[in-house]
Amino acid sequence: MAARNVIIIGSGPAGLTAALYSARANLAPLLIEGAESGGQLMMTTLVENFPGHRDGIMGPDLMDHMRAQAEKFGTEFVQSHVTSVDLCSTPFTVKTTDAEYKAKTVIIATGASARLLGLPNERKLMGHGVSTCATCDGSFFRNHEIAVVGGGDSAMEEAVFLTRFAKKVTVVHRRDTLRASKIMQDKARANPKIEWALNCEVEDVLHQDGNEVTGIRLRDNKTGATCDLQVTGVFVAIGHTPNTSLFHSQIELDANGYVITHDGAKTSIPGVFACGDVQDHIYRQAITAAGSGCMAALDAEHFLDNIPEHLQTTTQV
Ligand code: NAP
Repeated sequence: MAARNVIIIGSGPAGLTAALYSARANLAPLLIEGAESGGQLMMTTLVENFPGHRDGIMGPDLMDHMRAQAEKFGTEFVQSHVTSVDLCSTPFTVKTTDAEYKAKTVIIATGASARLLGLPNERKLMGHGVSTCATCDGSFFRNHEIAVVGGGDSAMEEAVFLTRFAKKVTVVHRRDTLRASKIMQDKARANPKIEWALNCEVEDVLHQDGNEVTGIRLRDNKTGATCDLQVTGVFVAIGHTPNTSLFHSQIELDANGYVITHDGAKTSIPGVFACGDVQDHIYRQAITAAGSGCMAALDAEHFLDNIPEHLQTTTQV
């Protein structure tokens, strides 16, 4: 089987930007989209912080445009789920549910999934008052009363950030001690707009007609008492899980399971690159993911230009 120049795994802003750049470099990339094409932006509504869209753009529309642009320049798309990879021998092997591919370079853009509480209404109201990204959605809640769920650094950071917009932010945490670092805790505790609902678990997200959050039902896990907190927004900040289960034991990951990149988008394996949220637990923005997708494609192109001639025999697209 002839090896392809580039296989990209993942179809969020990172993967699609990597596809656009490698397609325009005549590398005829193959992009394996995964079960749900488009990544996390498919779960959002208006995106106001992606440059070039003065009036904002709906998340799914942005992803449609990115996909069409990558396709226009020759990206081949496969709507399938990757079941295994072999990055230990070259050419690399990528298996999907129904095919097997060989590639000289692989770009990992599998993203990270925001952890959710698992409540029935939570997914339904995503983008309609429930959010997993304060940077993305905070400004929709000017002068509102909102809640942030979680007790880690992300929850503290989001709560403090959201006080720029909201009238009041209640941090809901399931224990009475926070997991967050002391400095982040201190910052949150010193903020007069932040209130605390400790030892509390969210039992339900309350809503009006399924498209507007009106509150959350809290249960005090010490007393069992329940109460409703009136809020129009709920930011779930209980951590992210990088989608790296395919790569365990093959590629270097950090303690939290994120792919470690260095010198741009390079991973611990020459010829394998990573971009987007799968290697970024700090910024997590569509624009930074897209930027790193560009870096991965340029790094892959450079790598292909420098493969020794005797290894070029499998070159084909
Ligand atoms: P995290 O440290 O894993 O904290 C997750 C929080 O969510 C914990 O308080 C946890 O409660 C709570 N939680 C988890 N599952 C829950 C559930 N099902 N229901 C209710 N609560 C739940 O995640 P993170 O805050 O996203 O931070 C991830 C990493 O990034 C950390 O290393 C953090 O230091 C780092 N980070 C750093 C910064 C910064 O330095 N500026 C900012 C953000 C993140 P328990 O405490 O009870 O387990």
